[in-house]
Amino acid sequence: MQSPATKDFKVDIFEAAIAFSEIGAGLGLGPNAVRVLKAVGVLDELLKKINPAELRTRGFVYYYGVGEQEKILALDLRIKGSEYIGSVVSPALLFILFLLLTCIRAAYLDALVAVVNPQSAHFNKRCTSIVPSPENPSCLLINFSDGTSHETDVVVGADGVRSTVRGYLLDDGDSRVAFSNTVAYRGLIPYKDLQAVGFKTPVTQDPACIVGPSKHIIIFPIKNAEIINVVAFSARYDIPIGSEELPKGASWVEEVSREAVEKEYEGWGSDVAALIKCMPKKPSKWSIHVVHPPLDSYVKGRVVLIGDAAHAMLPHLGAGAGQGVEDAYVLARLLSHPETHLGNLEAVLDTYTRIRRPRAQMVWDGSRTAGASYDMQGAGSSTLEGFRDELRTGFSPVWHYDIEVDIQRAVDLLRTGGAFTSQP
Ligand SMILES: Cc1cc2nc3c(=O)[nH]c(=O)nc-3n(C[C@H](O)[C@H](O)[C@H](O)COP(=O)(O)OP(=O)(O)OC[C@H]3O[C@@H](n4cnc5c(N)ncnc54)[C@H](O)[C@@H]3O)c2cc1C
Repeated sequence: MQSPATKDFKVDIFEAAIAFSEIGAGLGLGPNAVRVLKAVGVLDELLKKINPAELRTRGFVYYYGVGEQEKILALDLRIKGSEYIGSVVSPALLFILFLLLTCIRAAYLDALVAVVNPQSAHFNKRCTSIVPSPENPSCLLINFSDGTSHETDVVVGADGVRSTVRGYLLDDGDSRVAFSNTVAYRGLIPYKDLQAVGFKTPVTQDPACIVGPSKHIIIFPIKNAEIINVVAFSARYDIPIGSEELPKGASWVEEVSREAVEKEYEGWGSDVAALIKCMPKKPSKWSIHVVHPPLDSYVKGRVVLIGDAAHAMLPHLGAGAGQGVEDAYVLARLLSHPETHLGNLEAVLDTYTRIRRPRAQMVWDGSRTAGASYDMQGAGSSTLEGFRDELRTGFSPVWHYDIEVDIQRAVDLLRTGGAFTSQP
C-alpha cells in the first residue's frame, strides 16, 4: 500500500468542538482499517499507545444468554494469507495486519492527531452552510456559526451522522437521518470489579458476544484487560427503520439508571446480571441513528462526504470507523494522484463515489444483518447450525478486501473516461 503523495495543496481542518476529543469507550478496528492505518503511518503511533497484550485478539466467542448461559460458537477471526499486503513486513506486523485491534477511542484519536499539522486545525468552527463563492464562482465558501467563512476548492464533509455538509448534497430537504430502533447501553468496567462479583465468562483475551432474542451484549478487553468495554444492545424489529423518531428535543445520548439496564435483561443468566451490576451507576444510553435511506451519491460538484456523514451504520460489525478510514484513504490517493488537477477535479470526486458507495453500503447492509443475527431475527436463527452459519459470515466481506484494487479501478475508470490521459 502506498502513502498518499504530498501534493501542492493546502488542507485546513475545521472542527466544531474546542479541541479534538473522544468519549470514554472502546473501539474495534478490523484488518481492512488496520492496513490503511499502516499505509498512512498511523499504525506505529497507535501501537505505541496501546498495550501489546491488546494485540492478541484471535477470535470472537458467542454465548446464548437467556436462562443458563451457554457457549455456542468460538469464531477464529484471523485472516490467513498475505495477498492483501503489497510490501514485505515482519511476521509480528503481519500478525497485526490480519487482526481485529481493540483500543480505547482516545488512543486512536491521539494517533491520528499526531500526524496532523497543528497549524491546519481550527477549533470552535461549526459549519452552518456551504455556498458558491460570490467572488470566485468555481470555489466554495464554508460559513461558520461565529460569522466567519473560508473559501476553498473542495469541501470534505467528515462531520458525522448529523452532518451539516450532507445538507448541501440533498435537494429534497430530508436529512436522511433515521432512528435505527436500536439502543446501546455503554460502560467501561474495571476487570477486578467483575472478578469480585464472580463473573465467569472469559473476556480478558478475546471479545465475547452474549446473544438472545432482540438483544445482545458485546464485551471486549482494553488496556491489557484491566478495563472491560461493554455495549449492551436492545432493538425493536417490529418497527421499520425511519418510521418512528425520538420525541422532539430528546437527546440521542442520555444517562439512565442501572436498573433500567437490568430490566432490559431480566431472565438472562447470572453472568449478565453480574456484568450489569458492575456497570457505572448511570450507564449512557445511545439511541443509535443511521443514514437512511442511503444517499445516491457521496458527492455533489466539489463537495464530498466521508465517514458517518456519508453512511452512518449500525455498529454490529465494528466497522463504521473503518469505513471512514477507507473513504479517507481512497479520496486522498485520488486527490494526490499526479494527474489530478482543478480541471478534472469533479470527475475525480465522481469516481470516488462510484468506488466507495457500493462498498460502504454493502457494509451498512451487513451491519444490519449481523445485528439481526445476534438478536436471533435472522433467517437461520431457528436452528443452532443455521444460527452458527450466520454468525460465521458477517466479518469476512468487510475484512477480506484489497483497497489497492479499488484505487486501481478508480484510476482505470478515470483513464477510460478521459479525465486521466497518460498511458499506464
Ligand atoms: C455504540 C457504538 C459502538 C461503535 N463501535 C465501533 C467499533 O467498534 N468500530 C468501528 O469502526 N466503529 C464503531 N462505531 C462507529 C464509529 O463510532 C463511527 O463510525 C465513527 O465515529 C464515525 O467517525 P466520523 O469521523 O465519520 O464521525 P464522528 O466521529 O461523529 O466525528 C464527526 C466530527 O465532526 C465534528 N462536527 C460535527 N458537526 C460539525 C460542523 N457542523 N462543523 C464542524 N465540525 C463538526 C464533530 O465535533 C466531530 O469531531 C460505533 C458506534 C456506536 C454508536
